[in-house]
Amino acid sequence: MTKAIRIHTNGGPEVMVWEDVPTPEPGRGEALIKHEAIGLNFIDVYFRNGLYKAPNMPLIIGQEGSGTVIAVGASVANLTPGDRVAYAGPLGGYATERVISADRLVKLPDNISFETGAAMMLQGMTAQYLLRRTYAVQPGDTIVVHAAAGGVGLIICQWAKHLGATVIGVVSNEEKAALARAHGAAHTVIGHATLVSEVKRITGGAMVPVVYDSVGKDTFMTSIDSLAPLGLMASYGSASGPVPPVELGLLAAKGSLFLTRPTLATYTAKRSDLDRVAADLFAVVGSGTVKIQVNQTFSLKDAGAAHTALETRKTTGSTVLIP
Ligand code: NDP
Repeated sequence: MTKAIRIHTNGGPEVMVWEDVPTPEPGRGEALIKHEAIGLNFIDVYFRNGLYKAPNMPLIIGQEGSGTVIAVGASVANLTPGDRVAYAGPLGGYATERVISADRLVKLPDNISFETGAAMMLQGMTAQYLLRRTYAVQPGDTIVVHAAAGGVGLIICQWAKHLGATVIGVVSNEEKAALARAHGAAHTVIGHATLVSEVKRITGGAMVPVVYDSVGKDTFMTSIDSLAPLGLMASYGSASGPVPPVELGLLAAKGSLFLTRPTLATYTAKRSDLDRVAADLFAVVGSGTVKIQVNQTFSLKDAGAAHTALETRKTTGSTVLIP
């Protein structure tokens, strides 16, 4: 047997139950891994509360982790027991051991710890595709980043600065503002009520070519109003709830804007994309250009408390669960 956090129904943090589950066997193309650390992400909250539909019940939530390969199934050529690995994507993470498609595992470089690996795969690869592909940030760009002191947010702030951008980070309090500035945000705005006027002031009226918005419902319109003509609204999360349906004419009226709702799954669906995005992340983390701030650590069995902290905006940076 192995231990896991499972949900049997959707609801609050209390629906997560720490229980025995049979140790899975790796099938063809799969690997059995022993987790050393598991990443906590907002998507875990969406699967728990039902915003995202559970593919089955009971469900082991969690989509990010690092650990050691224990066994491999048939046709797995790229991995052997003992390999240090990490992943982001497939559900089933909140467990001491899990089976996963070998095609989704990447080898963790020796200079990156298990804890950092678990903290950064999902949030860091998200920052990578947002900054390098959804909108390829250029030196001299000024950009808006919501939840700038959060997991994805702190990584974006550092990486965008490294790419030569000026980051305007949006946060909810002064402590988070200081943290975002310490990680590369040139400007911070507390709350989004003054965002549009601040963007106008900072850019001399030009506004910004891209807004990275993970807050969703509450900030959608202020983000749209912060964009320059032909700007891109990258609405990549729903921490405050999903964005209601958008009237396409709004994009015309606000200056021929572009709107995308990207996901990491699409950007890493091909193995070649996964390898490229992960290698780019390993390079900036390995060189120290981007530091992964693991600011909270919980026991896996206390995942409920971790969810409460994340949902009540008590966390900063990344959070890991230790089995
Ligand atoms: P964060 O660490 O950023 O935590 C969420 C933050 O959102 C909070 O700390 C808070 O920051 C802010 N927030 C604003 N309004 C609310 C609200 N009503 N309730 C709770 N939080 C709020 O989480 P992650 O780094 O794990 O994820 C950030 C976002 O990115 C999530 O929306 C997630 O779904 C999304 N995401 C999307 C991916 C994709 O590929 N599309 C992949 C990975 C993440 P503050 O207090 O400063 O406002």
